[in-house]
Amino acid sequence: MDKILDGRHVYHSVLDRLTGQISDLKKATGKSPGLAVVLVGEDPASQFYVASKKRACKKIGVQSFEHILPATVSESELVAVIESLNKDDEVDGVLLQLPLPKSLNPDRVLDLISPDKDVDGFHPLNVGKLLLGLDTYKSCTPYGVCEILDHYKIDTVGKHVVIVGRSNIVGKPLAAMLIQRGYDATVTICHSKTENMAEITRAADILVAAVGVAELITADMVKQGAVVIDVGINRINDETLEKGYRVVGDVAFDSVLEKASAITPVPGGVGLMTIAMLMTNTVQSFRNRLA
Ligand code: NAD
Repeated sequence: MDKILDGRHVYHSVLDRLTGQISDLKKATGKSPGLAVVLVGEDPASQFYVASKKRACKKIGVQSFEHILPATVSESELVAVIESLNKDDEVDGVLLQLPLPKSLNPDRVLDLISPDKDVDGFHPLNVGKLLLGLDTYKSCTPYGVCEILDHYKIDTVGKHVVIVGRSNIVGKPLAAMLIQRGYDATVTICHSKTENMAEITRAADILVAAVGVAELITADMVKQGAVVIDVGINRINDETLEKGYRVVGDVAFDSVLEKASAITPVPGGVGLMTIAMLMTNTVQSFRNRLA
C-alpha cells in the first residue's frame, strides 16, 4: 500500500470515471446532469468552494447553474429560489453553500431542498436512510473518506475505526457509513467531552480526525501501523510565506507519518474528495430522475 494516500489522484480518477459515464448518458438520452449552487453573501472561502465546484462541473460535462444572492436576502426570497430549483427539470442537484449569514437559519432552508435533489446528503430523510443502510445520497466529505479507503483497498472489516469529531457533516455520517455491511468496521466516536482520548485513539486501526483544531493528533496518540485520515483544514500563521499563513490538518503530519502505515496529507488528501463525491451524487440523481 502507498504510504501517502493521495487525494488528488483519487479525485482525478473519480472525475475520469464520471466523465465516461456522463458521455455515455448523453449519447443515450441527449441530456447531461445539472447542478445548481446557491451562494448567499460574499464569504471568500465560500466563493472559492463554489468556483472549485464549477470547475469540476465543467471538466466532466455537468451543467452548472449559479444563483448568487446578497447577504441581505430574506429567508422567504431564498426559499423561493430553492423551491424553483426543486421544480426545474434541468436541475438534478441543489446545493446551498454554507455557512449562511447569521440572519438565516440553515437547517430550516436545507430541509426545503427536495430530498431527491439533495446531492449534499444533508436532508434529514437522506441522513436517516444512510443510517438504515438504504440507498441514498451520502454526505460528500465522509463519502470521500470512504472512496479513499476503497481506492487504496484499505481493509475495514472488523477493524477498529476511531473518528474524532461528531459533526453532522463528517463524524456522524462517516460512522453511519462504516458500520454498514460491506465496511463492517467497529466504530468509536470521540468529541470535545471525551475523557482519556489518547487511550482511545491509540486503539484505532484506522484513525479519522475531523475536528478543526490544527495538529491536535500527535504521534503519541497513534498506534504503530495505523491508517490515519485527516479531514481537518486549518489556517495557521506563517510569516515566512507571502500570504502569511499555511494550511494544516488536524494531525501533526511529520511525526505521525513515522508511525502510520498510511496517511492523507493536508492539502492533497480528503479536501478535494468532497467535490468529487458531490459530482458522483449529481450523476446518481440524474440517473435516478431518468428512471
Ligand atoms: P465542527 O466544528 O462542526 O465539529 C468539530 C467536532 O470536533 C465537534 O464534534 C467537536 O465535539 C469535536 N472537537 C472539538 N474540539 C475537540 C477536541 N479538543 N477533542 C476532541 N474533539 C473535539 O467541524 P466539521 O465541520 O466537522 O469540520 C471538522 C474539520 O474538517 C474542520 O477543520 C473543517 O475545515 C474540515 N472539513 C473539511 C472538509 C473537506 O475536506 N472538504 C469538509 C468539511 C469539514
